[in-house]
Amino acid sequence: LGAELGVEGTVLLALDWRGEVLWAREWRHDPHAGPEERLDRLRQEVLPRATGALGLGFTLPGVVGDRLLLAPNLGWRDLDLRPLLSGFPLAVAMENDAKASALSEVFFHGEANLAYVVLSTGLGVGVVAEGRLLRGANGAAGELGHWLGPGERACACGRVGCLETALGLGTLLAHHQALGGRAEDLEALLHLARQGDPLALQALAHLGEALGRFLANLAVAYDPALVVVGGKAAEFFPFLEASLRRSLEAHAFVEAHRALPVRPSVYGHLAPAVGGASLFLARFLELGGLWA
Ligand code: BGC
Ligand code: ZN
Repeated sequence: LGAELGVEGTVLLALDWRGEVLWAREWRHDPHAGPEERLDRLRQEVLPRATGALGLGFTLPGVVGDRLLLAPNLGWRDLDLRPLLSGFPLAVAMENDAKASALSEVFFHGEANLAYVVLSTGLGVGVVAEGRLLRGANGAAGELGHWLGPGERACACGRVGCLETALGLGTLLAHHQALGGRAEDLEALLHLARQGDPLALQALAHLGEALGRFLANLAVAYDPALVVVGGKAAEFFPFLEASLRRSLEAHAFVEAHRALPVRPSVYGHLAPAVGGASLFLARFLELGGLWA
């Protein structure tokens, strides 16, 4: 079983050994729900479905080290979640959403050098380099959404000027509105883009340009052979792609990076949960994950 405890909701699914999703369930939650409430609901959903499962791997939008160090957009900091996992009737592992998403691509589509960019409210990257998932000393490798730049917006992590305050999709909506657009949420913006609305397309082209620069930076940091775009941004990908490619080509450091393949995630919004489930495969290959 795999689950994603996301900023807006939870996904739970079952994955088989071939990487096929057998079933998936999703529910939203009270924005103020704390870890006890969220894990309790997850346990209730898992209990009747756990028979025959190898284990449960769940993801969080934050830094998973020996404990959960920080999940900025959940407002959770320095938590030992293990006591909350004792009521689960199977082995449980947890991992960062972007790192798990990277695994979802690696296992079933085999790529030794890949960067998986999760872009929704937050921005995070899961990096597989030379066949290994990079975790770093604290599990914070790839936390590029909190790379400090010259910006002045306050970030959910408590600091000012993080990259995710410029690239996070909340800013996309604000930019669309500043241009005179009227979408009140991202769903509405997506709908407008599909209808060819010029202001929606302009806001998305602007994001694509910024994302292209970001990918040029990612390329000098990790030199991936492939970049996968996931999170809510994957749904917007068709409207980001042209400006993103132009920008990447204009800003690439070496010639090879101009042609860096960039595509949306295979598993779409299920990718973190699929990656969570695949942690049980990763365990055999010693790729990563914290074991409770
Ligand atoms: C978090 C990352 C996460 C990303 C995408 C960021 O704010 O710090 O851990 O991967 O959002 O959810
Ligand atoms: Zn930050």
